[in-house]
Amino acid sequence: MLGACTDPPIAAQPNPLCASIGCSDECETLRVEPCDIADEPCRLSVLTSVQCTRGLELVAPPHVAVVEPHADAGAATQRADSGVAANAPDGGSIDNPLTTPSRADAHYSKAMQLLGLLEPGLQATAATAREFEGSSGSFGPAGVQVVTQSDETQWRNMARLAHEYVHAIQEERLDTKQWRARLADEGVRHQAFRAHIEGEADLYERLSLAFMQRKSLAAADIDEQLRKRRDSSLRAIARSESPGASAWVRVPYRAGAAQHWTMFMQRGRRGTDQLADDPPHDLAAWMRRDPVSTTLRVRCSTDVVPPASGAERTSATEEGASLLLALLFQVFPSQTEDERSELWDRAGAWRGDCFEVFATPNSDGTEATSVRWTFAVEDQSAAVELRDVLLARQWLSRESDVTTKDAAIVVTLGE
Ligand SMILES: [Zn+2]
Repeated sequence: MLGACTDPPIAAQPNPLCASIGCSDECETLRVEPCDIADEPCRLSVLTSVQCTRGLELVAPPHVAVVEPHADAGAATQRADSGVAANAPDGGSIDNPLTTPSRADAHYSKAMQLLGLLEPGLQATAATAREFEGSSGSFGPAGVQVVTQSDETQWRNMARLAHEYVHAIQEERLDTKQWRARLADEGVRHQAFRAHIEGEADLYERLSLAFMQRKSLAAADIDEQLRKRRDSSLRAIARSESPGASAWVRVPYRAGAAQHWTMFMQRGRRGTDQLADDPPHDLAAWMRRDPVSTTLRVRCSTDVVPPASGAERTSATEEGASLLLALLFQVFPSQTEDERSELWDRAGAWRGDCFEVFATPNSDGTEATSVRWTFAVEDQSAAVELRDVLLARQWLSRESDVTTKDAAIVVTLGE
């Protein structure tokens, strides 16, 4: 009767998250314990979990380097030396040491300061680099690098690794390096592309963590998690001394994650891959959760009438919806959660912009900076309403500083 007293094997409980997102049989029964991502079997469990939630197997899993906590201080330098950072979606060129800003960069930074969107005395590129400082993962030609945090749980580090694995899957499918190179100089399309890749990585980082922890999350719970993450990002932007840079860095993650989740619910896993074939051309479309881009009403053009005689245009850039959001945070300095949500929606009404910076010679040989920011919103009544708010809130003190025409608002400020 050997074996008669042996308990029958306990049927593996299906992963509760699978009730919401659907899983294959192998995924339903997969068990993952908290582990050290420095160990190969641990990394394999994370990768399998990403594939269970996101779908699509990696043909060639990337090399993974795990940087120990005590090496934290040198991590940024190491990333730059390894060549990973040059193409990293999570920080990219921020590790490059800053050189003396060009004349155009210096005037651009001053223009941002005139609008209250950049900390006085700081360069815009440095402010962006500062916003990326907390970033602890990167992915590039040399593979994945994750900086583990000594005060974080193993789950947290596993989630970070999951995020980078999503980028590795994207790279195989999309050739993100080529996309980034193509869009680097196209401000608003570059932001939309970042929303695509970072939003997707952000979403599947969350889902993979919930999957590994076997959390039971209904679709409404996932909606709520994404909303809370968006709200914490909005609080960070509102508190930042450089809200322009903060919004530029953070908004694509949150707008993209929400949109990818909508696509997942509507079309399943294939939906997010189809999105890669025709990503929205502007960030505002992601913020509206509307994959259809609208025709932009304002774009920078070459025929320019300077705001003052003797002024020379030193730069003209399309800044996108994130800068409009940063502006709204300046106008409404203290916000409730509902108000932040409303400002997010208002920024989603962005329909194109041109941020022009001018230099005018002073008699002492220096140059004065002025800025003209023209941005379009949904329609003329929305433009008039926003202009009135800018004046009523005394963000702009003179009526001549802000005008409206054809659903566009023109803000002009100078030193
Ligand atoms: Zn990322």
